[in-house]
Parts: sequence; structure tokens; C-alpha cells
Amino acid sequence: MQCPQCREPMVIYELDGVELDSCLRCGGVWLDAGELETLGNLSGIAPGPLAAALMRVQKGKRGARRCPRCRRAMLPFDPADDGALMLDRCPRGDGLWFDRGELGLLLQKYSANNAEAAAVRNLLGNMFQYELGGNPGH
Ligand SMILES: [Zn+2]
Ligand SMILES: [Zn+2]
Repeated sequence: MQCPQCREPMVIYELDGVELDSCLRCGGVWLDAGELETLGNLSGIAPGPLAAALMRVQKGKRGARRCPRCRRAMLPFDPADDGALMLDRCPRGDGLWFDRGELGLLLQKYSANNAEAAAVRNLLGNMFQYELGGNPGH
């Protein structure tokens, strides 16, 4: 699959049985439908609030990026309605696109406590160490 942002071929990572397609160039991540929920489960995050956030719809918005699976224009939406994150969703429900760092932020936002937040950091840490408050180096 191609990165919807820079059109580079993406690489596939596997985290505890969940496949993530990631772009090495821009650091974005594509998750097929259901994979985010699985990541949440692995981190012990309650599925309800996260699922509700992902159902949010921003009417009238149409994104510039295209779904890497079906090539339809994706729909940008703000999962927490607080301006902190703007994700893109395939209109057919193929999956979700996260810019660099957004996946970790979203999962941390829905962590109910420090233990869950730590589980998220652990899970994503190897792959996203820059994005979760680690030192990116210079
Ligand atoms: Zn990219
Ligand atoms: Zn699609």
C-alpha cells in the first residue's frame, strides 16, 4: 500500500498480532478496521469510549488524502472534539490514518490510568519511541 500523505510504499509492522502499515518517510500509520480496538484491548483500555470517539463524524469535511485501500477521499474527524487530534477515516470503513504521533496520543488519551498509559507506551514503544515523550535525539 502507498502512504496517503507522501505516496511512498509503506512497511508492515506486527505488534502482538496486530498489523500496522507505517510510512518510514512521514511516520504516519494506517490501521485497518478493528486493529485500533485490538491495540486498545492489548493495552487494557476500555473499548466503549474509544469506539464512540471513532464514530464521531465531522459533517461537510472532505480530506485531501485518499484511502490506501479503496482510493476514496478520506474524511477528517476530531475524535475527542478538542482540537488536539485530527484523524482521517475511510468513508467505506476500511480503516484509519494517523499522522506521526497521533496513534500514541489517541491511545494515551483513552487510557484510564497510569498503568494503561504505561501499557500503551510499552506496546508502541519500540516502534514509536520518538512519539511518546521519549527523547527524539538531535
Ligand atoms: Zn508518508
Ligand atoms: Zn477505503
